[in-house]
Amino acid sequence: MIKFSQIYTQTKPIISVEIFPPKTEQGWVHLCERMSHLRKYPLDFVSVTYGAGGSTQDRTLDLVQQVQIQVGVPGVPHFTSIGATRERVCAFLDEAVAQGIGNIVALRGDIPANDPNFLLNDRDFRYGNELVAFIHQHTDQLDIAVGGYPEGHGQCPDLAQGIEHLKLKVEAGAAIIITQLFYDNSHFLRFRDRAVQAGINIPIVPGIMPILKFSQIERIVSMCGTTVPTHLRESLLAQTDGSPEQQAIGLDYTLKQSRQLLAEGVPGIHIYSLNNWQAVNQLVGRLQDLVKPRGA
Ligand SMILES: Cc1cc2nc3c(=O)[nH]c(=O)nc-3n(C[C@H](O)[C@H](O)[C@H](O)COP(=O)(O)OP(=O)(O)OC[C@H]3O[C@@H](n4cnc5c(N)ncnc54)[C@H](O)[C@@H]3O)c2cc1C
Repeated sequence: MIKFSQIYTQTKPIISVEIFPPKTEQGWVHLCERMSHLRKYPLDFVSVTYGAGGSTQDRTLDLVQQVQIQVGVPGVPHFTSIGATRERVCAFLDEAVAQGIGNIVALRGDIPANDPNFLLNDRDFRYGNELVAFIHQHTDQLDIAVGGYPEGHGQCPDLAQGIEHLKLKVEAGAAIIITQLFYDNSHFLRFRDRAVQAGINIPIVPGIMPILKFSQIERIVSMCGTTVPTHLRESLLAQTDGSPEQQAIGLDYTLKQSRQLLAEGVPGIHIYSLNNWQAVNQLVGRLQDLVKPRGA
């Protein structure tokens, strides 16, 4: 299976999409029915999230398999180690390798907000760098992506320190960095500059989330500490939530944001799809002209 280290040496920008395993059987059937539509786009891989809370963890690898069969591109599982034992991590990695998977998005995961007794220091894995090092020690079959936070992370708002923590993950063996979603490219560009200055020289891939319903995006950004530029917020709020007018503004913005990032030479765009095929269809369809080989 093609690895991140090969994928990101292509001479064109890499377009990838993130999806999540639905919670219900009905949602699962619905997703599988629609997934094959993605075949018509030049996607390079599809990643599948891992429910840190436990509800859909067992379905991540099932959905990765469906991606490979139905979309015909590498499926990449996410994995979070928060609260997991070494045995659980080994079991997940072994299953992924047995399925012929070549890549993984490795994350520490969020500290459970509903468990006041949760102590990070009691755990087998306290931070992402420990997970990355463990994966490397356990198998050489998986290339590893890690998370990056252009606007800082809730547990570490100091951006300079955040870069030092990111560097630990790179030194532990990460092949690429995929960032948290952001709506102001200047945050990403500053983050990239700081990372490069700190000696980080692996691909840093921006994560982008199309806006189709602003109330939904507001919930998400409040959880992950992402800011929405005032002018964008005002123009979205001037429209009815989720209306075609609001969707048009949101998608135009995402397209403009992606264009600017590609012009800045990013190695690719990772689209947080929220399983919204309308967004993926429109965005990837319109990005197609922008992902021709560099210099073509
Ligand atoms: C691309 C991407 C995909 C994601 N997919 C999922 C998913 O599928 N499921 C899910 O539940 N969540 C997912 N998340 C969210 C992620 O789990 C949370 O953001 C989590 O809180 C951080 O995980 P991490 O591996 O980036 O953590 P880390 O890199 O461990 O960082 C966590 C915090 O600890 C600090 N830190 C790191 N190392 C050290 C150290 N050595 N000493 C002190 N402090 C340190 C960091 O600055 C940061 O504040 C994703 C995030 C991204 C960016």
